[in-house]
Amino acid sequence: MNKVTSDMRDICINLLKDRGVSLKDIVEIVYDLQIKYVPDLTKEVCLEAILRVLGKREVQNAILTGIELDVLAERNMLSEPLQSLISTDNPLYGIDEILVLSICNVYGSIGLTNFGYVDKTKPGIIGELDKMGKETNKCHTFMDDIIGAIAAAAASSVAHNAEDN
Ligand code: MG
Repeated sequence: MNKVTSDMRDICINLLKDRGVSLKDIVEIVYDLQIKYVPDLTKEVCLEAILRVLGKREVQNAILTGIELDVLAERNMLSEPLQSLISTDNPLYGIDEILVLSICNVYGSIGLTNFGYVDKTKPGIIGELDKMGKETNKCHTFMDDIIGAIAAAAASSVAHNAEDN
């Protein structure tokens, strides 16, 4: 990883933290997704996979873009009708799920299956973000999908590595 992408990775990790999600929160989701397939899985292996995912340029770009839109919506700074679509997390908007496909796919199509699963079950911090977005003036329209997609891609990376060993 060159210096630019590793600096960008740190920026993204801090951004996720500012928006209420730690790497540890994501580790829990990845671990729960993969422990049934990789019985000797450790949380360190999950963390390494997450850091690999966060080192990818397309992942960093999706994080920067999605979080920016959430923050602007929270501050009421978008134009209508986009402001309302994003701040109310309108189910017909759908661009939040589309944006994160670039994250899901970094380790192949199994990431997409994992993403569909976490999007439906909303484990751990993803459910909390979703709930917070509905019950407070926080906007997590992109954030829940970003976290789901990072976890899904990291789970795929764990699966591929387990296969190679
Ligand atoms: Mg969403």
